[in-house]
Amino acid sequence: MASLSLKHIYKIYPNGYEAVKDFNLEVEDKEFIIFVGPSGCGKSTTLRMIAGLEDISEGEFMIDGKIMNDVEPKDRDIAMVFQNYALYPHMSVKDNMAFGLKLRKTPKHEINKKVKDASMILDLAQLLDRKPAALSGGQRQRVAMGRAIVREPKVFLMDEPLSNLDAKLRVQMRSEISALHQRLGATIIYVTHDQTEAMTLGTRIVVMKDGVVQQIASPRELYNNPCNLFVAGFIGSPQMNFINAECTAVGNDVYLEFDFHKVKLDAEKAKVLKDKGYVGKKVIMGVRPEAIFESEHDLKNHPDTQFQVKINGYELLGSEVLLYFNLLNEKPAEVQRQFSDDAYENAKKVQWSAKVSAATNARYGSTITVALDAEKIHVFDKDTEEAIVN
Ligand code: ADP
Repeated sequence: MASLSLKHIYKIYPNGYEAVKDFNLEVEDKEFIIFVGPSGCGKSTTLRMIAGLEDISEGEFMIDGKIMNDVEPKDRDIAMVFQNYALYPHMSVKDNMAFGLKLRKTPKHEINKKVKDASMILDLAQLLDRKPAALSGGQRQRVAMGRAIVREPKVFLMDEPLSNLDAKLRVQMRSEISALHQRLGATIIYVTHDQTEAMTLGTRIVVMKDGVVQQIASPRELYNNPCNLFVAGFIGSPQMNFINAECTAVGNDVYLEFDFHKVKLDAEKAKVLKDKGYVGKKVIMGVRPEAIFESEHDLKNHPDTQFQVKINGYELLGSEVLLYFNLLNEKPAEVQRQFSDDAYENAKKVQWSAKVSAATNARYGSTITVALDAEKIHVFDKDTEEAIVN
């Protein structure tokens, strides 16, 4: 298998549009790399430059230490799986899988063996004589994978390979691709706009926005330590809550004040904010829905980050419930600071979401106390949108 190196890669389309800007990535052998980001951020363009289907405008692309910029796609030892499978309808599964090898004049016995091996790996052995029309979406997708596998390429490139499948099949194929990665020990680069797919499949994820890499990290690292507001909002479902807040301090204690409430930060985060000069400044507080508590037990353990809210949405997910809420309808009596009526009205409009156990007694219309998990409060700079502390 293979390692890849992309150094200062740019793509400027003939119309002058800069689709990819200064892309840098070192891919190690056997890594499962995901390119993720909203539609139009440059994921496919980057993948297509790796495949050789698109010229690299600037920068250097290497496979195993060899510069590939001007190497023909067919000589790059790369196999690509697209979202629309691109199977030949008049050919059997077997012939579809063998097609690329036949073109390469691979000896017949070798083709037979490779197709057989791949069909075992992909559970297609019983379907080798069928035509694509007689296959389910998932089976077709597996044939498309098979066609890539038989070539034993150094690198697999996959461009949204599951996006044409229904939700259930997508989940199934996701675990199949994951198992395939383990079995083949292959280097895979996989493009998706779906953060769940990215989080479940990737060993490392490249998050892109507007042609620019935002962060490259493991799924866990992205989730726990997003580098900026965009990554924090893009990774995780439901999305992280973002709240305008002001950083204040009394002695060594540092608080985030927002919409008639305040929470006390733990000593570690407090120190970072103080040292970086954020006391007295406006910041953005980020709280994941799963870092909001409401059970009696959790409330007891988090006395410094509590406030009252009014539930205006309740969605049962199964073992968990999504609660939606605004801050209280009435200005709490204990609030001393003066707020304009506008500020008060705006505060009521900020919609929060919390993911809690289905055992919750909270229902639509309830007023309840919630607490934030102080360790999991993220704080972002309001101007640069960079994370100050995670
Ligand atoms: P993604 O895969 O992230 O959805 P793409 O890589 O397909 O995004 O596209 C990135 C940007 O480049 C988009 O804004 C798209 O409109 C633009 N683009 C793609 N192909 C061309 C082209 N041939 N000429 C000009 N602009 C293009």
